[in-house]
Amino acid sequence: GQLTPIRKVVVLGSTGSIGVSTLSLFEASGVEVDVLALTAGRNVEKLIEQALRWRPTVVVIEDEALLPRLRDSLQNTGIRTAAGASAIVEAAAMGADWVMSAIVGAAGLAPTLAAARTGAVIALANKESLVCAGPALLRIARAAGGSVIPVDSEHSAIFQVLQPACIHRVSRLILTASGGPFRTWTRDQMAVATPEQAVAHPNWSMGAKISVDSASMMNKGLEMIEASYLFDTPEERIEAVIHPQSVIHSLVEYVDGSTLAQLGPPDMRSPIACAFAWPDRLPWPAPRLDLAAYGQLTFEQPDQERFPSIGIAREAMRLGGGAPAAMNAANEVAVAAFLDRQIGFLDIAASVAGTLERMNSLGALMEADADPVESAMTTDASARRIAAEVVRQVQRHN
Ligand code: NAD
Ligand code: MG
Repeated sequence: GQLTPIRKVVVLGSTGSIGVSTLSLFEASGVEVDVLALTAGRNVEKLIEQALRWRPTVVVIEDEALLPRLRDSLQNTGIRTAAGASAIVEAAAMGADWVMSAIVGAAGLAPTLAAARTGAVIALANKESLVCAGPALLRIARAAGGSVIPVDSEHSAIFQVLQPACIHRVSRLILTASGGPFRTWTRDQMAVATPEQAVAHPNWSMGAKISVDSASMMNKGLEMIEASYLFDTPEERIEAVIHPQSVIHSLVEYVDGSTLAQLGPPDMRSPIACAFAWPDRLPWPAPRLDLAAYGQLTFEQPDQERFPSIGIAREAMRLGGGAPAAMNAANEVAVAAFLDRQIGFLDIAASVAGTLERMNSLGALMEADADPVESAMTTDASARRIAAEVVRQVQRHN
């Protein structure tokens, strides 16, 4: 049966990997949705194509130089067009019932907060906004009568198996990690890894930034922070285990020794469907799990030596204050420099650690502002400045 009533939706970052999966799920399930807005960064051609298919009230492109192209292509369709970061914030706050937050990076924070203030259900893929200002975002969503439902597969898994009545009886959250494309590489091999090699993920097809994060395992570091905020769990009770098949999406261990896991084929439409229908379930022709075809599922301890990012994220959690926001900003700067071939792959984690260290010694990780969102944005901006300097130093060294 149909989910009723027809849901008004906004998809932020509709042209990206998660955005496309979201629209593909709407299509595959035949669910009726009223699309209020679709937004993109720069991919104007895909946005035009999506607009013609989904007939949203408005489409927004972040890059203002692309507005004329968008406007020309959609004239006489009745679809409104707009451009710029503030137009995306407005689209996020149009009064949708459900907002997919799938912009990449801290650029997703302001629109996600704007959606949260309207009391919408936020399907949250944009983990960086939680890492940046998690407690404030969750508080704002709840105060407005809305909710945040995780789309990140690990957090969706935990969300699905966590019994709210026994949240205080959780002994460990165990996040699974694929290990990424460099799981079996030596540090010497990783030192000369190219962007092409880093974005070639074995199990998932994702945007470039999260693919690099997955290769460095900073993705797991960001996800540990995400989990600590979403499920109000301290750093010591969050662990990561490598599981190359990506079939078990995460596990919750209770104090009585019972451990619950959620399984599924690696397809992001499954956690998106969960976030769309929760607490109901969305009927759609989902790929099914064929355990016998896998034969075996395997697990490994993450290697701290080759993948220092998990340790850096733990340190950021222990430091608290603005440290997670600073770590995230530094990582965004370093990943962009790596994708631009300015620094090597191992320089990413080194630059993030260097930025955190420098900010900590400057006392710049304290909450600078009484308002936690302002504070996160200030920390984000100063971490970007310092990370850019650190990256330039690394470049001169190479
Ligand atoms: P992507 O790069 O494929 O897509 C990003 C989207 O955001 C695109 O629509 C792009 O146009 C838009 N965008 C980029 N910069 C922007 C800006 N400055 N302002 C406005 N819009 C901008 O990324 P993705 O893989 O879809 O990931 C999106 C988010 O979901 C990320 O936070 C990622 O960590 C998270 N996530 C992704 C996956 C996955 O399987 N792809 C899984 C879990 C979590
Ligand atoms: Mg994930």
